Amino acid sequence: MTIENVKTRFAPSPTGYLHLGNIRTALFNALLARRWGGQFLLRIEDTDRERSRPEYVAALLEDLRWLGLDWQEGPEVGGAQGPYAQSERTAIYAEYYRRLEATGQTYPCFCTPAELALSRKAQRAAGRPPRYAGTCTRLSEAERRERLGRGLQPTLRFRVPAGRTVEFTDRVRGPQRFASDDIGDFVVRRADGTPQFFFANAVDDALMGVTHVLRGEDHLANTPRQLLLLEALGLPAPEYGHLALIVGADGGPLSKREGDLSLRELRAAGYLPEALLNYLARLGHAYERDEWLEPAELAAGFAPEHLGRAPARYDEAQLLHWQGEAVRRADPERLWDWMGTAVRERVSPDNRDEFIATIRPNVRFPADAAFWAERLFGAELTPSDDGRAAIGAAGSEFFTHALAAYVEHGAAFQPLVEKLKRRTGLKGKHLFMPLRAALTGETHGPELARVIDLMAPERVRRRLLACVRAG
Ligand code: GLU
Repeated sequence: MTIENVKTRFAPSPTGYLHLGNIRTALFNALLARRWGGQFLLRIEDTDRERSRPEYVAALLEDLRWLGLDWQEGPEVGGAQGPYAQSERTAIYAEYYRRLEATGQTYPCFCTPAELALSRKAQRAAGRPPRYAGTCTRLSEAERRERLGRGLQPTLRFRVPAGRTVEFTDRVRGPQRFASDDIGDFVVRRADGTPQFFFANAVDDALMGVTHVLRGEDHLANTPRQLLLLEALGLPAPEYGHLALIVGADGGPLSKREGDLSLRELRAAGYLPEALLNYLARLGHAYERDEWLEPAELAAGFAPEHLGRAPARYDEAQLLHWQGEAVRRADPERLWDWMGTAVRERVSPDNRDEFIATIRPNVRFPADAAFWAERLFGAELTPSDDGRAAIGAAGSEFFTHALAAYVEHGAAFQPLVEKLKRRTGLKGKHLFMPLRAALTGETHGPELARVIDLMAPERVRRRLLACVRAG
């Protein structure tokens, strides 16, 4: 399906690093654009001067690129509707404030934060939902002038029309209705002149031609305000879809331990981008196929009607599953690089491909690769407790036979095993486990035939001999 001129967007506020929640929002918007043959736009919502930082902007651009979520319009890429950072759009916003003011749809508000807090408190005490009491809407022109004359800096409030019902169909949550009388007049320009979120976000979506917005459910209550604003300005509204939030296993907010991690932290831990994509694309969205999907397949199978309304539960086991799949699929050059210096110092480049083929099924993170590099190529082998127990249980004689079989057959695994079977009368686990423990120090791990083939004959002999002596 292709829909005309679809444009989705990701509009992060650069007040921190990207984490699973907002990456998923970015991903869903990128997938939707690809699925419908449209454009994906990136806009930086840096109106909060105090908390926005250029280094967070740089980091998020890099993070999105690392994930392969390229944008067709936005910072560094350009486009006809720029600039793409809200801090650079002051002149554009001024024009739209002017329009609202000219039609009497806004008024200056001189209430101080303390006064507003007091009013909210009184409303709550009276059992009413707190909203702006409308104090400054009743000011006369003379009172306004007097306050401005005193040098007070007003905010600009949008006059919410009374007695209206705002209705829209949410792409995820279905039909929505809000009474305008429940929405107090809200600020569209702060006292320092910067735009309030509702305003800049809605105006930019309209001016930038955004047709579809998938965003967190925490923004659902903002949508009627934004629709009223767009209507007042005669600007088109996008279609909205509000995504269920990601929660921890207990249904509460994600904790640090449970995955509230920045993309930087996940990347530093060794997660591969495709693993994160395969996981996040399924977090609150269902695919018909449960197997690994390449980025183009993730887009092809993406459907907004498959977005769930129930909170999406973070499940580390699932993420680890996709990480394992990603490692299994990555090409050797890339894995070699990813495994890091601990592996490259231990494993000769001549053994690179064999090493990777051997340990790949047992590796999810660079630390796992370093572990096996040490086990297979380290000078000293100190078996784990289980390994030592397996060696002890097999006894010295077993390893005498194993050594003889190896001397006779070398790394030819089948004949070696046959021989050992005949000599010891053992088979299956009773045969393989001690052999594995002798060579790797572990009772579980990479395929034994590959391990024997990969290790230098001298090292195999030495390790078997050590077990003969230990018995
Ligand atoms: N800057 C807003 C945020 O990061 C964007 C909300 C939206 O997507 O509309 O929450």
